[in-house]
Amino acid sequence: MAARSPDPAPPTGATVERVVVRRLERPVAPPLVSGIHKIAMVAMNVVEVTSAGRAGLGYTYAFSRREAESVTPLLLHLGEPLVGRALDPRATTAEAWRRINFIGRGGPPVMALSALDVACWDLHAQLLGIPLHAALGAPRSEHEVYVAAGSLALGPEELAAEARELLAAGYAGYKLRVGGPDLDRDVERVRAVAAAIDPGAKLMVDANQAWTRAEAGAFAGRLEDLELTFFEEPIDAEDLEGLAALTASAPMPIAAGESNYGPRRFADLLAGGCLDVLQPDLMRCGGISGYLEILAAAAAAGLPVHPHLFTEIAPHLPSGDGPGPQLIEHLPGWFDDVFAGAPRPDRGRLSPGDAPGLGLSLSPLALERYVVGVWE
Ligand SMILES: [Mg+2]
Repeated sequence: MAARSPDPAPPTGATVERVVVRRLERPVAPPLVSGIHKIAMVAMNVVEVTSAGRAGLGYTYAFSRREAESVTPLLLHLGEPLVGRALDPRATTAEAWRRINFIGRGGPPVMALSALDVACWDLHAQLLGIPLHAALGAPRSEHEVYVAAGSLALGPEELAAEARELLAAGYAGYKLRVGGPDLDRDVERVRAVAAAIDPGAKLMVDANQAWTRAEAGAFAGRLEDLELTFFEEPIDAEDLEGLAALTASAPMPIAAGESNYGPRRFADLLAGGCLDVLQPDLMRCGGISGYLEILAAAAAAGLPVHPHLFTEIAPHLPSGDGPGPQLIEHLPGWFDDVFAGAPRPDRGRLSPGDAPGLGLSLSPLALERYVVGVWE
């Protein structure tokens, strides 16, 4: 498949009028257990950038109130200089990267920069009166969508039942958590799912960085016969050398990127031959501007790019080089009732809507029940 090179529409000349930040807390029940976290809450910052009666939206999420609180002042700090300025996402994001050089180009500063970038791109497309994918120069595409589930708290039979149920509900694939303390049990959990589902369905595993190099290597070797679509975050996401070694030796594709910050880190991942599949996360990769840079670099290297979460936004993103359409991740129950206007998975596929921009807004339920504070 030839790489498409997106050609985003130029700035409209509109001026940013306001930047508004809302913090939301939404319970996750039952909690999702991964290799490292037990997630009982998504704590979000939703930022709106407004102009001419339109509001572009971006967001960050974390797993506790205090984590989310650390992002709010940075959104206000980086949002303030946008007010009164021409709306130009790539220029203002490049400037924000320079502004955060002192406090750090990772973590909360990059989350804030990224959410503002997404909000500016959404607003830009809205002001042009076209969907975001069109403003990014990408055709309206239908993407495959898979479900991220398979809590580490679930045993083999429970996982098999969950996988069958979710795949029947309309996903092209199922991803379960691995990375527990007992390798045998995780092998058994994956095999139970593989035996229970249609061989045509995609099957992925995610260790959420919990394993050592040796554990991840041993696990990969024991599942050689299964044709997993990918093995995600097998080890520490910053252990580039370890990732490269595993990518060279593992029988299945190795995927990661959600925990890596900014296009420069992805350049390191590409240069080091660290991964088979890149998974940039819109609040950590530098927003849509960062994603486009990563996509171009990945296309040059011939690697597929599949976005991490941000299911409401991902269908608008251009596809990279590599086999098949873009593969989008959906985590049911975290964000579904937070936003109105999000595209919904349908028979394993997901397409962007026709509304200008992202077509997203906070749902009446979220405004009533989840918002815990508003800042401007
Ligand atoms: Mg993951």
